[in-house]
Amino acid sequence: MTTCPVCNLGTMEPRVIEHPIRHNGRWVLAEHVPADVCDTCGETLLTAEVVERLERTLALPPSSSRRIEVFDLHLPERNSSDVLPSTVAARW
Ligand SMILES: [Zn+2]
Repeated sequence: MTTCPVCNLGTMEPRVIEHPIRHNGRWVLAEHVPADVCDTCGETLLTAEVVERLERTLALPPSSSRRIEVFDLHLPERNSSDVLPSTVAARW
C-alpha cells in the first residue's frame, strides 16, 4: 500500500475510473482507466504505462461519442478590498 503523495494521510487504492482529458482543444472522457485513488483526498495517479496507453488510444477514433456538459466555475480574483469588515458586521 502506498501513502498518498498529496495529502500524506490517505492510502492509494487501485481503482478503475473515468478520466477527463483535454485533447486537441476538446474535453474527452476516457473510461475504464486503471488508476490509484487516494481514499482520503481523492487524488488520482496514473502510471506512466497507463498514460502512454491513453495517448495511443486518443490517436484512434473514439469508441463512442456523447456530449459532456461543461460548467465554468471561474471566480473573480480575490484581493484584499474584497474583504469587507462592514459586510461581516452587517450580518450581526
Ligand atoms: Zn490524498
